[in-house]
Amino acid sequence: MAVEAKIGTTCFHCGDKVEETPYVLDSHTFCCLGCQTVYQILSQNNLESYYRYNTHPGKSQKLTEAGSLLS
Ligand SMILES: [Zn+2]
Repeated sequence: MAVEAKIGTTCFHCGDKVEETPYVLDSHTFCCLGCQTVYQILSQNNLESYYRYNTHPGKSQKLTEAGSLLS
């Protein structure tokens, strides 16, 4: 079986549903560029253990962006 990015999976960072074209990095799927960027920063700084001790610890960056647009 081929390994493909699955549509309808969840964001590796925040756990949100990923329904549209997902952002994929290192075989992990993200709901938005914000979540992917946070993961990228963590992994570049060898902080991937963050995910080992927290299940979907991140907040959706999409919601953060939407909130700042409203204020
Ligand atoms: Zn996310």
